[in-house]
Amino acid sequence: MSRPEIRVRALHKSFGADEVLRGIDLEVGRGEVVCVIGPSGSGKSTLLRCVNLLEEPTRGQVFVGDAELTDPDVDIDAVRRRIGMVFQQFNLFPHLTVAENLTLPQRRVLRRDKAEAARVAARNLARVGLSEKADAYPAALSGGQQQRVAIARALAMGPEVMLFDEPTSALDPELVGDVLAVMRMLADEGMTMMVVTHEMTFAREVADRVVFMDGGVIVEDGTPDQVIGAPRHARTRHFLSRLL
Ligand code: ADP
Ligand code: MG
Repeated sequence: MSRPEIRVRALHKSFGADEVLRGIDLEVGRGEVVCVIGPSGSGKSTLLRCVNLLEEPTRGQVFVGDAELTDPDVDIDAVRRRIGMVFQQFNLFPHLTVAENLTLPQRRVLRRDKAEAARVAARNLARVGLSEKADAYPAALSGGQQQRVAIARALAMGPEVMLFDEPTSALDPELVGDVLAVMRMLADEGMTMMVVTHEMTFAREVADRVVFMDGGVIVEDGTPDQVIGAPRHARTRHFLSRLL
């Protein structure tokens, strides 16, 4: 593997007495795509949220690039700028146009001037195939288009890593393909990605590695052919059989 871009070591997370992550060790190489699969409640979202410190780990370490997020002295805002996150719910600003959704965070967080922010916004809307929607409001877009705007908004911040938490789970089936196509393009361009998904075709075709989580631990970690094609653990087989 190339130099790891994301490194998670002995990560534990509890909510009160409920230990949700019970010692996660995971590395994602630069340019690698890792799909995280597993049953509801297994800790997939909590893991992603710990990787950008939306949740504070109870124990263990998280590194992104050469920065340790779990170091109490880290400039967490600076590190977070390097990490884009896309959620199941698109979380667009409803009162702003598509273009404004992309320019506002650039101006607020990165202090880009208006012209630069507009240029970057236009470039990223083109990447997700939505240039013609720049002046539309989110409510006028389909769910799939809104999710592509959310991806473009994250990309406009110039992240080194992209985290996706079930990005297509809220979409009507006929809209899923366009969003997956954008994610596939990013993978082909060499973006480092962690993707929580139930889309097994995407995982098989795009992921370099698949991680199966259950009960707050990683049960299996390997190539898609290994984990999806020939799972070694009964828990993985049981999970996969229920998806078919
Ligand atoms: P997954 O994404 O795999 O469905 P989650 O990471 O969302 O799993 O949740 C794992 C467990 O942690 C669940 O039992 C959930 O109820 C619990 N949990 C998640 N977030 C919180 C929170 N903020 N407070 C308390 N419990 C939480
Ligand atoms: Mg989840």
